[in-house]
Amino acid sequence: MSAAIIDGRAVAATIESELQARVARLGSAPRLAVVQVGNDPASTSYIRAKSRAAERVGVELTHHHLPANIPLGELEALVERLNSSEHGIIIQLPLPDGLEPALARIAPARDVDGFHPENLGKLLRGEPGLRPCTPAGIMELLERSGHSPAGKNAVIVGRSNIVGKPLAVMLTQVNATVTVCHTGTADLAHHTRQAELLVVAAGRPNTVTPEMVRPGATVIDVGVNRTKGGLVGDCAPGVAEVAGALTPVPGGVGPMTVTMLMANTVAAQAD
Ligand code: NAP
Repeated sequence: MSAAIIDGRAVAATIESELQARVARLGSAPRLAVVQVGNDPASTSYIRAKSRAAERVGVELTHHHLPANIPLGELEALVERLNSSEHGIIIQLPLPDGLEPALARIAPARDVDGFHPENLGKLLRGEPGLRPCTPAGIMELLERSGHSPAGKNAVIVGRSNIVGKPLAVMLTQVNATVTVCHTGTADLAHHTRQAELLVVAAGRPNTVTPEMVRPGATVIDVGVNRTKGGLVGDCAPGVAEVAGALTPVPGGVGPMTVTMLMANTVAAQAD
């Protein structure tokens, strides 16, 4: 068997055209500030992708590029100013050591990354709020590609605050039965083999190999690993021979994450 490809680029393009129409109805462009501190090359390439998506959708993106040695107070002062002038604000991660407290200065209503404790609390309680982009993108991708997680046995590999944990909450809310695995999981393959829906967000190539996958499972590969051979996910190539459906890397979850950032920015303007 060779898995059907779940095309994140195509689904993202559909959502972007919906957003474009919504922005046109709003009559003015939502404004998004992207704050970058230092010169992390991966951050620079993510910001480029966000700028291109903003242009397509009609979001006015401003890139604030600051030196790595900026004092915390100055970064916090910038965030406070942006809280008043912008609809959405993101601070690109990773941040240099000591600057993390600035993240908490983003007003919850401007927090289009959905990382603020208030927005995470709302997610946990099932209340409306800005949702973290990667798990929200995975949920949209599943629904729109005909792989609804409702009633499924779902296994997530990874428990980060930006992917694994919020996704576990979202999947539970749509009636999936969820297991979250991590480096303390005694027998990872035992759990992954039960999964009708397997989401891998570990950040290591080959974390999941073909014999760890239930035949016919839907597999979402969140991993982005830069290797000598190019960009690869967390699943070994042979997983495509066992899974029923699989997201490619690149072209799966990545474009959805960027699109959900635009969706959050449009929602932040409308609120
Ligand atoms: P992270 O903060 O490093 O978390 C990784 C998680 O995976 C941790 O919970 C870790 O367990 C678990 N893990 C690692 N190796 C494992 C193993 N061998 N067995 C079981 N669990 C294991 O990473 P993240 O920020 O969630 O990102 C995960 C991956 O997704 C990265 O490759 C990242 O680049 C990618 N990503 C992609 C997008 C996108 O838009 N495509 C967005 C976000 C992230 P412990 O908690 O026990 O350490």
